[in-house]
Amino acid sequence: MRIARFTTGEDPMYGIVQEKDGQDMVYGITGDPLYTDIRPTGTIVPLEDVRLLAPVIPRSKVVCVGRNYAEHAAELGNEVPERALFFLKPNTAVVGPGDPVVIPSYSQELSLEAELAVVIKRMAKDLTPDQVADHVLGYTCANDLTARDAQREEDQWFRAKAFDTSCPIGPWIETDLDLADPAGLALTSAVDGESAQQGSTADMIRPVAELIAEISGVVTLLPGDLVLTGTPAGVRTVEAGASVDITIEGIGTLTNPIVRR
Ligand code: MN
Repeated sequence: MRIARFTTGEDPMYGIVQEKDGQDMVYGITGDPLYTDIRPTGTIVPLEDVRLLAPVIPRSKVVCVGRNYAEHAAELGNEVPERALFFLKPNTAVVGPGDPVVIPSYSQELSLEAELAVVIKRMAKDLTPDQVADHVLGYTCANDLTARDAQREEDQWFRAKAFDTSCPIGPWIETDLDLADPAGLALTSAVDGESAQQGSTADMIRPVAELIAEISGVVTLLPGDLVLTGTPAGVRTVEAGASVDITIEGIGTLTNPIVRR
């Protein structure tokens, strides 16, 4: 099931994206699928006629994992860390499909990072890896945009990775994946249609269940929180005016324009 958040010009609502007679349609649902059962409202709109929004606004946080693909760690001259390397993005970093990513005024080197994002379904604290699947709603595509110049200048990555619009997600939440171990999905990025990253979630050093169990030993994960699971090799700088696609097999494609203001 593909859970989307969308607007047709009125208040945002949730919907299920399904194909009907060869066309993708959005079936509106009541309430918020994180908290309420899925019930149709009767609204049915062609996908091409709606504006998709970020499929979830994290209630509290986005937890990210650094250097979780060996070839990406190597391309930036880093070792694979002995312990998982975690950092946070605030929920103000989250934007949706088609929303502009604004290059921070202090950066001349904005880089893309295609990542599989986990959407948390229920409160999670001190989980063991085998408890993780029960706490996951599904998966979406994410871009962990990084001001690489700022990242080199500081140990904490606040200016490098927490800025507004640094976390586009979408186009929807796919629930029909192996919730404990969505391994072996092709994960790619492209800039203006030109291929950048060509990875696979099979190459994660630490798998989803292990990451979430460890994170839940540090912080309580709340419904709608996101966990970004790291990026494969092939990251590159993106300039204002570019359009970035993040595609994950079995989920879809997230596209965002890059702007400078
Ligand atoms: Mn990243």
